[in-house]
Amino acid sequence: MVEVIEWVNPGEDEIIWRYPNEVIKWGAQLIVHEYEVAVFMRDGKIYDVLGPGRHTLTTQNLPLLYKLVGGSNSPFKATIIFVSMKQFQGRYGGETQTKELAPVKYYGVYWFKVADPVLFITEVVGGQSLYDASDVTKFIRAYFNEGMMKHLSAYSIVDLFQNLDMVSTQVKIKLMEDFRRLGLELVDVKIEGVNTTDEWRQRLFWLMQTGNAQAVMQMDTVKQVAAELGKSPGASVGTGMVLVPQLFQQPAQPAQPVQQAPAQPYAGAPPAPQQPQQTAPSQPAQQEICPYCGKPIPPGARFCPYCGHEIKRCPNGHIVPEGAKFCPVCGAKIE
Ligand SMILES: [Zn+2]
Ligand SMILES: [Zn+2]
Repeated sequence: MVEVIEWVNPGEDEIIWRYPNEVIKWGAQLIVHEYEVAVFMRDGKIYDVLGPGRHTLTTQNLPLLYKLVGGSNSPFKATIIFVSMKQFQGRYGGETQTKELAPVKYYGVYWFKVADPVLFITEVVGGQSLYDASDVTKFIRAYFNEGMMKHLSAYSIVDLFQNLDMVSTQVKIKLMEDFRRLGLELVDVKIEGVNTTDEWRQRLFWLMQTGNAQAVMQMDTVKQVAAELGKSPGASVGTGMVLVPQLFQQPAQPAQPVQQAPAQPYAGAPPAPQQPQQTAPSQPAQQEICPYCGKPIPPGARFCPYCGHEIKRCPNGHIVPEGAKFCPVCGAKIE
């Protein structure tokens, strides 16, 4: 009876399957399905590789192994590993820190497939001694996550919350290079969400509103800033207007002469070109972010489309945090 070597009913998430019998007879039938490759290994080394088709194992199609067994036609020892070349989907999620050491959580989906089965077996399966599909899957997920953590931590919190598309694209390219080293192709990566603590969300909010990253980052806590700005003056509106520039070293805007540069979206942004006042009828719309969830919201929105929170505004339309008595941007009193 002829031995048939075949990966029967591969599971949805199975990347590899090791044929349990390691004594192979010449003349055995090897069935390799579409999107599969069969790799012959011995002592951790890869010999012959056979692609899709029905193969009768002969000295012709296994030349390297045949050479190894010394041209003998008796049964030989080899490990046969089937590798699936299909595309797989994985979910990820983890925690890292931004450049400013802000804690960030992230999660999403990625898609990958084996691009180079020999490199993959060398680096992952044989290299890590992972002969079980679920161990391989775990290894790949951990590898992905480690790369994600490392690459994300090179960005600032403003980038993560305001320029997530740009960050995703750049991180994806780096992760693709990481995967290539394992013989894998990272087909796509989707970052579905990033999040941070309440405190950092507020800090981010102040940063976006005031444009002064340094002042905000130097505050021990944002509560301190909010407390200062929200102080009931018992006095006049004027207190708030004076207080704001003190905190952020940024002149109160409405009263300033025309030479004043427009507020920057954040400290790292390149300075806007100085324009003659006549040709600049209005300030360019500044990207607004929700102080509650940190996501960009449409200009003038009354409610955040992401978290549904009501967006409070000063009479001049600036977003103000809950409980603030004065606008942190223009100093106007909040009713
Ligand atoms: Zn929101
Ligand atoms: Zn205002």
